[in-house]
Amino acid sequence: MAYDTNNIFAKILRGEIPNQTVYEDDHVLAFRDIHPKAKVHVLVIPKGAYESYEDFSAKASDAEIVAFTRAIAKVSKLAGIGVTGYRAIANTGADGMQEVPHFHIHLLGGQRIGGMITLPE
Ligand code: AMP
Repeated sequence: MAYDTNNIFAKILRGEIPNQTVYEDDHVLAFRDIHPKAKVHVLVIPKGAYESYEDFSAKASDAEIVAFTRAIAKVSKLAGIGVTGYRAIANTGADGMQEVPHFHIHLLGGQRIGGMITLPE
């Protein structure tokens, strides 16, 4: 499937939609989730056009993967959850119930996050 250049995170990356930036470098942008599911809820995205974790893992350059992985700890510190902890979630594809087709990792913290998952009936 081709990357949808009109997805909301692509628009954020082009500066067409505002965001509350937490961190930015050449390869990565991190910003607050617009509908936070925890006291701290930050999204970390690569600047490259990758639709999912699957796509990013398979196709991103080593430099992009290193920058993205290193950014997680920088973002968690900046968001104040590096020490207290957080959950990192990458919803991927249909079964992962990914809504926005641009790879992102959710960092959720600032409180106890609760059980791992609840499967639908
Ligand atoms: P996912 O289901 O993993 O694709 O999650 C997409 C996330 O993007 C949701 O948690 C939304 O609240 C969040 N989101 C959607 N639009 C925006 C936006 N304009 N700014 C920040 N977060 C957004």
